[in-house]
Parts: sequence; C-alpha cells; structure tokens
Amino acid sequence: MDIDKKVWEVLCSEEDISNRLKELGQEISDVYRDKKLYVVSLLRGSFVFTADLVRKLDIPVKIDFMTTSSYGHGTESSGSVKIVNDIKENLEDYHILVVDDITDSGLTMKYVIEHLKTKNPVSVKCCVLLDKPERRKVEIEPDYVGFTIPDKFVVGYGLNYGDYYRNIPYVFVVTDKDR
Ligand code: 5GP
Ligand code: MG
Repeated sequence: MDIDKKVWEVLCSEEDISNRLKELGQEISDVYRDKKLYVVSLLRGSFVFTADLVRKLDIPVKIDFMTTSSYGHGTESSGSVKIVNDIKENLEDYHILVVDDITDSGLTMKYVIEHLKTKNPVSVKCCVLLDKPERRKVEIEPDYVGFTIPDKFVVGYGLNYGDYYRNIPYVFVVTDKDR
C-alpha cells in the first residue's frame, strides 16, 4: 500500500459535505424535536462526521460512542462484527440514532442495530455519511444518507487507509497511477 503510487480523486469536497450536513441536520432536528435523542457514534470512522453533524442539530441531544471491529489494514471486511466497546448508559426512553461513516456490506449497521434494540430504546434509526448500496450483503437501508457512492474504496473525513488519512477534510478515492 504505497500511497506515492496512487492518485487521489476527490469524491465529496469540504463544501459538498458542509452543504449536505446542513440539510441532514435540519431534517434530523425536525424529526426528533420534542423527543429524547441519543446519538450513538461508531468509532473510529465516524468521529469526524459525528462531530460536524451534531453541531448542525438545533435540538438537545446526548452523544456516546461505541467501538466495533473494522477492516483493520485491508480494504475488505472480515465479515464478522464484534463490539469492542459497548454503550454503558441506560438507553430506555431514548430514540437512538446510530451514526457511522459508511455502509458497505451492511453487516456492521445491521449487527449494531440489533444489539442496541436489546437495550429497549423507543426506536433505533441510523445515519451514514456514505452509502455503497452495490456492496450490500445483508438487507439494510440507512434512514439518513449523506451521499450515495459507487463501489470504490474511499478515504478521508474519518475514513482510514492503513491507519492514516482520517484527518483529511474531504472524501477521496485512491487509485493506482498507471490505471
Ligand atoms: P460494513 O460492515 O457495512 O461492510 O462496513 C462497515 C465499516 O467498514 C465502515 O464503518 C468502515 O469503517 C469500513 N469501510 C467500508 N467501506 C469502506 C471504504 O470504502 N473505505 C474505508 N476507509 N472504510 C470502509
Ligand atoms: Mg467503521
């Protein structure tokens, strides 16, 4: 994985993301107004998205983080999801909104939603910055989607390549230079 031999193609610019997040923030605020909302953010990939999204909400919200197993250093999922760090708060009486960076196979989101339902919340919905519907292995359609994207490995804005590039403020695709 030699980044020097790759080209970066910007898929969602900072401006695209900022504009879309304003819309999503408004939509989510309107849906959860007068409801008890708990945002559950999946680390590490969604930390940037969550931080920006929650600042676009104009309603009270509680926020906590959960860690699930991820892709590690490769670009393919291992296929099995593990909860590495669970929510310890009592989620009864709350509407949960799970926030993740991307839904790919859908395995993570499906597993997390089923898991959170066992904590007896009022409802569980999900919001992802990016959706790759072509890659789906299990049936799940995110309730709120920032951008629907083609089947490409994307990096930046929280998403990693190796352990790096999470801090890049836009989403880009990495391709080989000679392709
Ligand atoms: P899923 O369980 O839906 O297959 O994948 C969930 C997780 O895999 C995402 O939360 C994300 O961390 C990682 N992932 C999936 N697709 C990509 C991608 O294109 N780029 C990166 N960097 N991570 C991805
Ligand atoms: Mg992830």
